[in-house]
Amino acid sequence: MSVTAKLLRVFRVDQQLRGLQSRLQTSKRFLAAQSEQQQGLDAKRKALEGQVRQLRATLANEEGEVQRIEARSVVLREQMNNAKTNKEYSAFLAELNTLKNEKSKHETAALEHMSGVEALDRQVAEIVAQLDERSRMVAQADKDCKSKETEIRDRVDELKSQRDVLAKDVPAPALAALEALIVSRGDEAMCGVDVLDRRNHEYTCGGCMMAIPMERVNSLVRGNLTNCPSCQCILYTEEELIVSRKGTSKPAKSGAAADRV
Ligand SMILES: [Zn+2]
Repeated sequence: MSVTAKLLRVFRVDQQLRGLQSRLQTSKRFLAAQSEQQQGLDAKRKALEGQVRQLRATLANEEGEVQRIEARSVVLREQMNNAKTNKEYSAFLAELNTLKNEKSKHETAALEHMSGVEALDRQVAEIVAQLDERSRMVAQADKDCKSKETEIRDRVDELKSQRDVLAKDVPAPALAALEALIVSRGDEAMCGVDVLDRRNHEYTCGGCMMAIPMERVNSLVRGNLTNCPSCQCILYTEEELIVSRKGTSKPAKSGAAADRV
C-alpha cells in the first residue's frame, strides 16, 4: 500500500472524528452564547435593583421630611391658638406658611420618586422575566451538550484508537504534513484527482479544480506523496489513473460522480 493510501485511511477517520466533534462544538458555542446573554441580563437586573434601592432611600427621606413638617405644623397651630400677642401670632403664621411651601416641595419630589420607583420596578420585572426565559434556554442547551457528549463519546474513542493504529503505519514526515494541512485546510487537506479527459491526460484537483500536470499524476501513480501544485493539498486517487492504450482498464462508470477517482 502506498504512503498516500495509508494517509488517506488516516484522513478519512480523522474526517469522521472532526465531523462528530464539530457538532459538539456547535452545541458548546450555543451554550456559551446563551450563558453570556444570561450573565448580561443578570448584571442589568443587579444594576436596576441598585437604582431602585437608591431611589427608595431618597423617597423615604422626602416622606420623612413631610412627616417632620406635619408634626412641626401641629405644634405651630397649637402655639397660634395660645398666642398672647398679634406679633407672636404673626410669627407662628409666617413659619407655618413657609413650612407649607416646604412640605409641598417635598411632596412633589416624593411623588416623582414614587413613579420613578414604579417605572424601575416594571423594568426589573421585565428583566427577571427575560432572565427566566434565558435560564431555561441555558439549562436546555447544557442538557443538549451533555447528551451529545455522551452520545458521541464511544464513537469518538473508537475512531481515535482506529486513527492511532492507522497513523502508526504512516511515515512520520508524511503524517506531520497531513496534520499541518488538516489544520490549515480541514476537509480539503487531501483531495481526489478528477479525470477531465483520460485519453488526453487531463486531470484536475478535486479541491481547487486546477489542472494537475502529467508529471504530478505520474508521481502519484508511482506511489509518491504528491501535492497539488495550486492548493498544496495532498492528492490521492482510488482508481487506476493511467489507462493502458490497449483498453485493459475497467469500463468507465456512468454519471459525474464516477469521474472522481
Ligand atoms: Zn488543488
